[in-house]
Amino acid sequence: MKRIVVISTGGTIASRWQGSGFAADAHGQEVMATAAVPEGVAIEVVDLFSVNSPRLTTAHQLTLVRTVHEVLGDPGVDGVVVTHGTDTLEESAFLVDLYHDDPRPVVFTGAQLPLDAEDGDGPRNLHDALLTASRTRDLGVLVAFDGKVHAARGTVKTHTVGADAFADPSHARVGDIGFGKVSVRRHPSRPAALPLPGVPESRPRVDMVMHHADGDPLLLNAAVEAGAQGVVLVATGAGNATPEVVSAVAAATARGVLVALTTRVPSGPVSQIYTHGGGVDLVAAGAVPTGLLRAGQARVAVLAAVLATTDTDERVRVLRHVLGQPVPVPAEPART
Ligand code: ASP
Repeated sequence: MKRIVVISTGGTIASRWQGSGFAADAHGQEVMATAAVPEGVAIEVVDLFSVNSPRLTTAHQLTLVRTVHEVLGDPGVDGVVVTHGTDTLEESAFLVDLYHDDPRPVVFTGAQLPLDAEDGDGPRNLHDALLTASRTRDLGVLVAFDGKVHAARGTVKTHTVGADAFADPSHARVGDIGFGKVSVRRHPSRPAALPLPGVPESRPRVDMVMHHADGDPLLLNAAVEAGAQGVVLVATGAGNATPEVVSAVAAATARGVLVALTTRVPSGPVSQIYTHGGGVDLVAAGAVPTGLLRAGQARVAVLAAVLATTDTDERVRVLRHVLGQPVPVPAEPART
């Protein structure tokens, strides 16, 4: 028998009608009771939270990271499944992945339809996550959803309500689930795991600011004034903003704020191509380009760097480590 521990955190997979809308309220045993358990698998349930995932805080997510480590501290456990709201699943899964140094799988799943929906997707997703957790190894943290297996790193929620809700827009998925089997197509590359962080004295503030036409640095500056230790600039195109935003980034990094540069565009690398407020200038001002990571996971990468150390240069080093290989800078002169 394979021993799989299911950690229940809430989300739509645990949701019921509340009179005005749906919200998580079921506990792990109830969620587990909806799914068929694959042959040869024995389940244990850990009831961690029962919340809608937009309500999760860094404290919740660090509790989840530690719980996964505690569960895997038992050598008799073969794998872990985390049931989670889909809204911020990509953030929690990536955070757990950054500290995951174990061949045994941790597989996140959830649902787009609530617990008691007649045609709900939760039971199948949970069954598939259990199958994946009991049949795979050495793939890091995974997301099992709608018959597909994705690497935590790079995966984003791509549909607000559809059953096929997750994908990595820049890479092929890791595998497929069907007919009682998990077919693995690729092994994701992952940097060495970070040591588990200590418990922060206060909530580490890491904000996200999006650029757009007619955008100005007001919100970026407000984040710095509010005490942000990290800011993710969600820029346009390949990672561009304005000269005014570049000045604000330079002022923020001079104050020791860790600034990461990502983009609103769903796929492709952040690249240093343009000046006059573009990625060339933002990186020169101290912003760290996040390659293929989109906003939610770029923020998690910055959070991990902030949690790792208080030293400003060391935070940049940890962030670069978490981001993996640097993205190549094009040799072509900038085009307008
Ligand atoms: N609102 C839900 C959440 O907790 C959405 C979901 O789980 O699909 O993220």
